Amino acid sequence: MKIYRSAHLGFCYGVRRSVALAEKDYGAPVYTYGELIHNSRIVSALECKGVYAVGSPDEVPEGSVLVIRSHGAPVEKIAEAEKRGLRIVDATCPFVGRTRKIVAEKFAAGYTIAVFGKRDHPEVAGINSICGYNAVIVDGETIPEALLTAEKVCLVAQTTASAKKFANIAEKFTKEGLKTVEIFDTICYTTQERQREADLMSRFCDKMLVIGDAKSSNTLKLKEICERNCAAYLICSAEELKEIKFNADDKIGIVAGASAPEESITEVLQYMDNNYTEATNEEFLQAVDADGTSGKLSSGKKMTVKVISADDKGIIVNFGAKADGFISAEEATLDGTYNPADYPKDTELEVKCLGNKTEDGVYRFSKKAIDEIKEGDKVVDTIRNGEEFELKVDRAVERDAAKKKGGGLLGKLGTYTVFIPASQIKERYVSDLKPYVGKTLRLVSLEINDESKRIVASQKVILVRERKEKEEIFWANVVPGVIVSGKVKSISKFGAFVSVDGYDCLVHIGDVSWVKFKSIEDILKVGKKYDFVVLKADREKGKVSLGYKQLQKHPFDVAIENHPVGSVFTGKVTSIMPFGAFVEVEPGVEGLVHVSEASNTYVKNISDIYKVGDEVEVKVLAVDSENKRITLSAKACMPELAPEEKPARAGRDSKPRAQKRRDGEQRDSADAEWSEDAGNNPFADLLKDLEVKK
Ligand code: SF4
Repeated sequence: MKIYRSAHLGFCYGVRRSVALAEKDYGAPVYTYGELIHNSRIVSALECKGVYAVGSPDEVPEGSVLVIRSHGAPVEKIAEAEKRGLRIVDATCPFVGRTRKIVAEKFAAGYTIAVFGKRDHPEVAGINSICGYNAVIVDGETIPEALLTAEKVCLVAQTTASAKKFANIAEKFTKEGLKTVEIFDTICYTTQERQREADLMSRFCDKMLVIGDAKSSNTLKLKEICERNCAAYLICSAEELKEIKFNADDKIGIVAGASAPEESITEVLQYMDNNYTEATNEEFLQAVDADGTSGKLSSGKKMTVKVISADDKGIIVNFGAKADGFISAEEATLDGTYNPADYPKDTELEVKCLGNKTEDGVYRFSKKAIDEIKEGDKVVDTIRNGEEFELKVDRAVERDAAKKKGGGLLGKLGTYTVFIPASQIKERYVSDLKPYVGKTLRLVSLEINDESKRIVASQKVILVRERKEKEEIFWANVVPGVIVSGKVKSISKFGAFVSVDGYDCLVHIGDVSWVKFKSIEDILKVGKKYDFVVLKADREKGKVSLGYKQLQKHPFDVAIENHPVGSVFTGKVTSIMPFGAFVEVEPGVEGLVHVSEASNTYVKNISDIYKVGDEVEVKVLAVDSENKRITLSAKACMPELAPEEKPARAGRDSKPRAQKRRDGEQRDSADAEWSEDAGNNPFADLLKDLEVKK
């Protein structure tokens, strides 16, 4: 005997959630609005835990918790519970919630609501309450009169309705010439899957065991479906199996309603195990593949499937004679523009299996994965002449020294496997390959083998080409006199290294500033960007010299701007020479007060009247921009003496008047005698060979 278990045994998502919410400790008595699920075993178990079902909120004692079951509840009952101040825990299944939302929106928009389902089912009653009990209940396969004359009709289904019957009635709605009709397939996915599997198994098996309660709508539907194909038995416990006669070579299928508890299922399986020692127990979909032969439906398997139906959630497909599957909206298209209307019934699709049963018991497929492969193959035809392409690295292959095989990276481009040798990843050999896994590389093909579907590709080729192009541009632009922007990378005792477009250039210490400085860091900060002028570029040697000071104002220009010819200022004596004294005009710029311009009296030795550090009032007499010389005069700031005031030439106190004033001394008129000797010659002549100190 072979026993085949459905992939969808056990509670559905909605039931599991509602039971978990009811069993939670709220610190108060818990009641459920109606029996939480249609299974007397679970209802009794909940009662043992102190969770009781009530028919109306007014039966619930104050301060208690009222759990709204997965079917939902009529809106006025929820309002009543709220009015009584009961704590409401909403365990309405999200699939039921979706239907209620659709009904609310469409009813507000003036649609007549049609609900395909059982008039007396609590879920239908709850949905009907949303539209003020104005819904037309469709419980057969004909369209009620009331809908034929309605302007706009919105058709929804009870989540556990028969998918096949709903498809039939929905087709009639579209064909009967209703003015406007919007159809929402709100049958929950689990229900559809269980029904489809029941149909499939019952065609394959000799007997079907349907586990669940007779009160459960979805369980009864499963039995109804199975009975069309073989003998079907509704059972709640192992005890009921005793009544059934099994044959040694029977193929027995086991399905379960969404509210059938795990205990019932285990009990049934154990009974079969204990009583039929030859029985083998397999999960149906894993045992039967698309061809009806034994074998697993493995991940990555490519196959052609047929569309059964499509809605906003995705596409339900038949993947062969034995089972159906699901392509989610995300797995339907490459560009994310999924539209259910693009997938009419019976459309054939090429898909890839995403693996055996997932957590929710559904077999998943991807159309996108196949489209990706097709797109990849198209790309291969566009890269045969060295065109660039992008590839995500799937894995790294370490170098196998024993086999003398080099390591590298692997990825897929359509049906082709792309190998990037470690030596072709960067300009330098890459030994640590792991960081590249998952990264996208820009590549060119070096070799394409269509037979073995292998491509050898290189990123290095692109990097080398780009570096050379960059170099061309760099050397074309880096010519003397051009201003470039660069980031200071490091500073050494002979200059600063600056990166310009990724190339290292040098600013020599002599080209950093016009004025004296203690450290280059005082002027150029590491990590900061500055403008520089290119002084020299030698492509052969790969050296570029930059200047920073050249882009700064020369202190001489600052000096003559601040102190034009004729202006008077007070400056410090910086040095004394036999022919005169140098006075600071601006930091780094000095002017000369020739001995003949030092005083309005005769001066023999300038050091008699000035010493370094003295402050002297001077007038700018002349500026020689070409030779960067500034001629100053202290005498010009003093009143001209009458001949009789001029001191005698020798032995006179020759301090300038300003100086004397500072010293508190009185000019001795008897000594004041002026004569034009060699020392008083026009100083421009005398200075012409002198450099101004900078
Ligand atoms: S059968 Fe579907 S709609 Fe009903 S509770 Fe389960 S998941 Fe929700």
